[in-house]
Amino acid sequence: MNTKKIRVGISSCLLGQKVRYDGGHKLDHYLRDTLGQYIEWVPVCPEVECGLPVPREAMRLVGSPAAPRLMTSRTGRDLTEQMRSWAARRVLELEKEELCGFVFRTGSPSSGMRGVKVYNNSGVIKQGVGMFARQFMDHFPLVPVEDDGRLNDAALRENFIERLFVFKQWQDFLGSDGSIKGLVKFHTEHKLLIMAHNPRALMLLGRFVAHARKYKRERLLRHYFAVLMEACKCQTSVKKNRNVLQHIMGYFKKDLSAAEKKELAEVITHYSNGFVPLIVPITLLRHYVKKYEQPYLITQRYLEPHPMELMLRNHV
Ligand code: SF4
Repeated sequence: MNTKKIRVGISSCLLGQKVRYDGGHKLDHYLRDTLGQYIEWVPVCPEVECGLPVPREAMRLVGSPAAPRLMTSRTGRDLTEQMRSWAARRVLELEKEELCGFVFRTGSPSSGMRGVKVYNNSGVIKQGVGMFARQFMDHFPLVPVEDDGRLNDAALRENFIERLFVFKQWQDFLGSDGSIKGLVKFHTEHKLLIMAHNPRALMLLGRFVAHARKYKRERLLRHYFAVLMEACKCQTSVKKNRNVLQHIMGYFKKDLSAAEKKELAEVITHYSNGFVPLIVPITLLRHYVKKYEQPYLITQRYLEPHPMELMLRNHV
């Protein structure tokens, strides 16, 4: 596992910076202290960076959810253009930061990435997107994004953090190589991981790689990465993971003793039945991969997609 820190954007208040309208913060200890050991956070506070003071009047989205205006709640000052023009410049600056993801603050009219309250004549609709978050996602459509609220869900958290690492591995591949030979290696290492998310996408990506010479390299890499990131967004499930685990088991047909096979099959069944988390069969398989030096499996990102210390697979 490459432990070089990954650069990820974050709403500043989640790191404990006192930038909220009331002078407070929304420190998230897990993000700052636990995930922060592996991630270099790049904080962004749209409201302060676009020129507003701390403290300031609270604001909200008003109008149609698709194109709302950003207004102060009490005096009705329209901040839409101020925020929009700052955000257009900021996303260009962020290109240089090489971000592998962004964690937004839930529900904020500036930073919320989904389900933000929008006020209009019909009442309040929870379908808005914060003004900066919208511009960020439009500008970086493939960059993984989540909000702090959704990250409390173990499965969504595991999925998001896995995507950060896949994104970084792709960045490293492009930075160091970017060749077709390198793409074949990248694809090979990620096969089982992709299978656990979306087996159909695995077939499609396999076809891209098999016919790589037919395409212009830049175009091929662009397409490959777009399909890969979309595939990784699909949630894994117990059923999909069980299929991958059984697939891996097939590689040990000649190596495992009858007792080892029985034990492994039992552990996979226990996982399928919800008696043990995913980390249990994965740990046993990793043990066999090392013991029998299985050359294909040893390279598979699926067996360690993120640092074990984060214990993400202890809860899914
Ligand atoms: S939610 Fe966004 S705009 Fe509001 S304080 Fe946090 S970082 Fe700043």
